[in-house]
Amino acid sequence: MKTKKLEDIHGLTPHNWEEIKNLGYEMVDDMVSYLQNIQEQPSWKEIPQNVKLHFEEDIPQNPQNPKSVYQEFKEFILPFPKGNIHPRFWAWVQGTGTITAAFSEMLATTMNPNVTIGEHAAMYVDKQVVKWCKQMLNYPETASGILLSGGSMANITGLTVARNFHNPSVRAYGIQHHKKQMVLYCSEETHSCITKAAEIIGLGNKSVRKIITNEHFQMDINELKKQIALDLQAGFQPFCIVATTGTVNTGAIDPLKEIYELCKTFNLWFHIDGAYGALAKLDPKFTEQLAYIEKADSVAFDLHKWLHIPYELGCLLVKNAEAHRASFAITPNYLLQTKRGLAGGLDSINNYGFELSRGFKALKVWMNLKEYGIHKYAALIAKNNEQAQYLGKLVSGSKQLKLLTPVTMSIVCFQFIHKQANIQTINKLNEEIIIRLQEQGIASPSSTILKGNYCIRVCIVNHKTKKNDLDELFLWVIKIGNQIVKEIGL
Ligand SMILES: *Cc1c(COP(=O)(O)O)cnc(C)c1O
Repeated sequence: MKTKKLEDIHGLTPHNWEEIKNLGYEMVDDMVSYLQNIQEQPSWKEIPQNVKLHFEEDIPQNPQNPKSVYQEFKEFILPFPKGNIHPRFWAWVQGTGTITAAFSEMLATTMNPNVTIGEHAAMYVDKQVVKWCKQMLNYPETASGILLSGGSMANITGLTVARNFHNPSVRAYGIQHHKKQMVLYCSEETHSCITKAAEIIGLGNKSVRKIITNEHFQMDINELKKQIALDLQAGFQPFCIVATTGTVNTGAIDPLKEIYELCKTFNLWFHIDGAYGALAKLDPKFTEQLAYIEKADSVAFDLHKWLHIPYELGCLLVKNAEAHRASFAITPNYLLQTKRGLAGGLDSINNYGFELSRGFKALKVWMNLKEYGIHKYAALIAKNNEQAQYLGKLVSGSKQLKLLTPVTMSIVCFQFIHKQANIQTINKLNEEIIIRLQEQGIASPSSTILKGNYCIRVCIVNHKTKKNDLDELFLWVIKIGNQIVKEIGL
C-alpha cells in the first residue's frame, strides 16, 4: 500500500463543516440544560472504578469521530464534576462560573491569540481588563498590572518585584551575592503559596517570619514589631510585609493600617494577598476596613473566586509600574517591537511577568463585566457575606453546634459537639459528618483545624446559594451528627 504524500495530508480543519457545526449546537444545548438543572444533581458523587479505568487508556493512535469523543465526555467526565457549579458547594475558596463566560471561552479560543506581544485587539482587551481591576479596588490608575493564572502566581510575581526593588542587583548576581539575608513577614494564617514563593525566589522558607495571630486569627502587631526589631538587631534585612485580606481558614483580615504604618517606618514593601477577600472591598460593610488596599505596594487577587470568572484568572497590581517592569523586562532579538506592523502596539506583557505565552483569558472577564456590571458583583459578594452571618447565627443558636470563631467574611467554621465526647472523638465525628454530607451528595463543605479543633468549614463564594440551602445544611449536620453519635454509642 502506498502512503500519502505529506503535502496531501489534510490539516486539522473539519472535512465536513456542517457536521461540526451541528455538533457545536448540540454541545451548547447540552451545556445550557446541564447548568440550568444543576441544583437537581447531587452536590458531589463518587467516581466508579470503571470510569477511572477509562482514563488509563494509552494515547490514541488513530482518528475518532468528534461526535463519539463528545459522547465519551458526556459519559465519563461530565457526570463527575467537582461541584463548584452547584449551589451547595462551599469547600476551599472556589468560584461558581457563568454560562456566558463559557461561551466567551469559545470565542477566545476560536481566535486563539497568544496574548503577550503584537498589534491585535486582544492586547487592548487585556489592558482594559487590567485597568478595570484597578478600578474595582480603587487602586491608582498609574499602577501596572498583569492577569495571571491565579493568586499563587500573582503572589509570587508580586514578591519578586518586592525582592528586586529592595535588592536591585539580584537580577545580575542572584540572591547569594547579597550581603544580608532578606526576610519577610506574614501571619501564621497566611496561605502556603507565600512560603512556596519565598522558596522559589531564592529566599528560603526560613526567611518567612510567620507572626502569631490574635484570637481573631489576625496578625498580632506587637509580635510583628518585636520580630522586626529582633531581625534588625541580628543583621537581617526586613524587606516586605504580606498582609492577608481574607485568610483561607477563617476569612480574617490582618490589621492593614498598622501594617501600612510599619512598612512606612521601616521602609518595607507592603504586599497584600487578597486572593479571596480583596474584592470584599466592594461590599459596603468592608469598604472602610479594606481601604488600605489602595495604599499597598502590590496586591494579588483572584477573579476566579468572587468574580466567578471560570478558571483560571488571577491578577497582580503593582503601584510602582517602573519597579514592576524592571523586574521582568528583557528583549531578545526575536521579541523586538517595531513602530508599525504586527510587532508594533502595546508594551509586551511578558515585560511584567515570567510567562511568555498567554491565552486570551481577558475576554471572559471583559464580557462578563460588561454583561453584569460591577454593582451586581458587589451585591453578590455582600449577599454571600450576609449568608455567612445567617449561618453563623443558626449555629450559635443551636445547643448541638459550636461556632469556632466569629464570622468575618463569608466563611463559617463550626463543630458538632457532644458533652460525653473528648476532643479526639469530636474531631473524628466532624470529619465523618463532612464526608457523609459529600458522599450523600447533600452539600460540599470542607474542613480545617483551628487551634486543634477539627471543623466544618463553609466558605460561601457562590452566586447560586440560597438561604434555604444553608437551612438544609444546618439540619443535615445535626441529623448526621446524631446518627453517628448513636452508631458509636456515646
Ligand atoms: C486561593 C488563595 C490563594 C491561592 O490562589 P490560587 O488562585 O488558588 O493560586 C492564595 N491566598 C489566598 C488567601 C487564597 O484564598
